[in-house]
This record gives sequence, structure tokens and C-alpha cells, in this order.
Amino acid sequence: MENILREIVEENRYLTGEGRVADYIPALKKANPKDIGICVVDLEGNTYKAGDCDVKFTIQSISKVISLMLAIMDNGQSYVFERVGYEGTDEPFNTLYKLDFPHIDKPVNPMVNAGAILTTSLIKGGHGERFQRILDLIRITSNNPNISYNEEVYLSEKGTGDRNRALANIMKARGMLDGDVEDILDDYFKQCSIEVDALDLANIGFFLAKGCEGLKSYGNIDRRKLTSILLGIMNACGMYNFSSQYAIEVGIPSKSGVAGGIMGAVPSNMGIGIYSPALDENGNSKAGYGMMKSLSERLDLRLF
Ligand code: GLU
Repeated sequence: MENILREIVEENRYLTGEGRVADYIPALKKANPKDIGICVVDLEGNTYKAGDCDVKFTIQSISKVISLMLAIMDNGQSYVFERVGYEGTDEPFNTLYKLDFPHIDKPVNPMVNAGAILTTSLIKGGHGERFQRILDLIRITSNNPNISYNEEVYLSEKGTGDRNRALANIMKARGMLDGDVEDILDDYFKQCSIEVDALDLANIGFFLAKGCEGLKSYGNIDRRKLTSILLGIMNACGMYNFSSQYAIEVGIPSKSGVAGGIMGAVPSNMGIGIYSPALDENGNSKAGYGMMKSLSERLDLRLF
């Protein structure tokens, strides 16, 4: 397996020169665009790595899967999806589009920023506790108790997060979002700044691939249903406004983040973690997409 991963890294390395590191959050500009790594955890828990798997980066939007998981465990499926939609979108991840349309009463899905900010607001506990509970769940699902957040990225996001402020404020004004906007955003910025490596992402993917097995409590939902929701949403909305084409080309439920991570879960088979910070025009890792496609083809992982 490690030989295959090494070949996949080399086949796709040229793509790191074709993408661009995210710069709308100033601290993300510091990433090395040449970094590229892939890590796989199979169903027995064996780990395989190639490339830059030890580089730390911020989880960004991949945290939205975990905050959704927690919101559902706290409140149940019906309550959460009365407040946020299920469907994909061809709009970018930070879109304000439609949030002020009179007939729209919720953000389109939990993977765009508006939906994710709303999802975080639904997590039980006040300001600070919501973030701590997301961090705790990321530590459990990644099997890494040492994970923490990156203060510099957090402050950078908070200092420049006016678009996310606009999203939260319009949702509050429209009666979609309850609670203190700045407190909710503070938890959201911090959850995006949680620092991981490719192995951590592969372990989160592995946790999902095993049907979310191993938590002490699932709150208001059965774990199989929880897994179906998370993988279904990742498949439909996990790769921004490229999700459907990605599903056709790769066929693995995945979630990307603007720092260059991709987490993938092949049910009852493996978890995949990828890092390569040079992004394409949709905000997905350019070489990351290439590596996922190669891996899916080489190991015949496509689910449909
Ligand atoms: N913290 C980022 C933002 O809110 C997350 C975006 C992403 O990874 O897609 O803009």
C-alpha cells in the first residue's frame, strides 16, 4: 500500500504548482504550496503514509462534519434539519446568496459557511463550551488527544472574518440564528483553527468508515443513521460547488478545507487523509483532488 501511495504522490506532485494557497485568511498564506501528503487507515487500523504527512495545518471546513455530528447528537436529526437544509449548491462556500430572499428560512446546507455557523450555534453549552466539545470530539474521532488549535490562525480569521459576520448577522436578523453573534462566530473561528495532520484526517475518515463506532453516547440518534447523514452530506456538499463532479470522478464521501486538507471515508473499508495547500478555483486542494482520484481508480474505491 505504501508503494501505491508513494506513486500517487509522485504522479500528482506537478499539480502543487498549478494551485494557489488561500490568502483571504492572512495566516494561511504561510503554508508551503509544494507540500503534498496522503495517509490511509485501513479497517484493521493499519496506517500507511506517503509524502508530507507530518506537516500540521488547520482543519478549516473539515470541522463542519464534526460540528454537524455534535449538533445532531445534541438535538436529533429533525431539529437540526428544520434549521439548516440538506441540499447541495453551485454557489461558493462563503456565499450570502439567497439568505435575504423572503421565502428562504434556512441556510442551504451545513457545509457552506452560513450553514456551519448555524450548526455550531445549535451545539449545547454556551460560548467556549461549544468549541471545547467540538475539540473533544475531534480528539476522540482522530484518536489523538494532543490536538489543539492554532492561536495565530484563529486571531487571523477573527480579525478578517467580516464575511462570516455578515452571514451570521443576516441569519440573526432573519430569525434563523439564535444567540450572541460574536460568541457563536468566536467558537466557529476557533473550530476552523484546530490543527491536524494528514494522519488525523485519515483517522477521522476511518471513524466514519466504521460507522462512527466507539463513542460512549450518541445522544439523540442511532449511530448508523448518524453515519448515513454525515456521509450523505459529505457526498452531496463536502467539496464545495464541485461536489457532484467530484462524486462522479472520485466516488468517495469527502470533505475539504481551505488550508488544503481533504478527509475521505470509504464505508467499511478505509479512512483517507490528504494535505496539499495549493487550491483550485473552488477552494479544493488541487493535488488533493488528483490524489483522491488516483487512489479511487487504483484501488477501485468508487462507491457507485
Ligand atoms: N474558516 C474558513 C472560513 O470560514 C473555513 C472555510 C473553508 O475551509 O471552506 O472562511
